[in-house]
Amino acid sequence: MSIPEKLLDIKSELPEEVLLVAVTKTKSEEEIMQAYNTGHRLFGENKVQEMVAKWEVLPKDIQWHMIGHVQRNKVKYMAPFVSLIHGVDSLKLLREIDKQARKQQRVIPCLLQIHIAEEETKFGLSEEELFHLVGDEQLRTLDHVRIEGLMGMATFTDDRDKVRREFKNLHKMYLRLQEMMAGIRILSMGMSGDYQIAIEEGSNMVRIGSSIFGERN
Ligand SMILES: *Cc1c(COP(=O)(O)O)cnc(C)c1O
Repeated sequence: MSIPEKLLDIKSELPEEVLLVAVTKTKSEEEIMQAYNTGHRLFGENKVQEMVAKWEVLPKDIQWHMIGHVQRNKVKYMAPFVSLIHGVDSLKLLREIDKQARKQQRVIPCLLQIHIAEEETKFGLSEEELFHLVGDEQLRTLDHVRIEGLMGMATFTDDRDKVRREFKNLHKMYLRLQEMMAGIRILSMGMSGDYQIAIEEGSNMVRIGSSIFGERN
């Protein structure tokens, strides 16, 4: 199947409330345009420089999501245009996003990344750190960021029950956060290998790359 066929195929099986972020890291502008020409506008990248380079040359009605780990010194490059930052995992980073968003006279929507997998290498907050952060007084002074939800990645494993348990746990944190804060409406979980389970467990935003664009090198 071609890129447009695969994209439309996946989209047609997603429940209406689930948004698809088409993950285009390492993929060319031509491949992205094939997806764009189906009417899709929501794309995700995991490196700031790569996203900026693509933003510069591709149509300006694309909504770019930063799904990777963000270094504070890179925030300024995407602040003019990024539409959602998924990988926020510290107050320090939120402060930098707030500062750069203020310069651009905009409010940048963010998700807090939660560490739900057992792998040590994955970024993100623990449950305890999450609720500590959202209880921090300083957060209320940041007028140019808006926390809209949570993001997480399950363990890379064939054990589907384990993946399900991790997503269930993240969904529970999401519901708890909704009771504490207004405007919590996005639960970003699920990739090519596990998005069906993620949706069953309450995801409303999936990030899919290889199932649309093929394997990356
Ligand atoms: C690469 C990536 C994805 C997409 O992964 P696929 O397995 O290709 O669908 C999703 N989320 C994040 C954070 C990624 O870095």
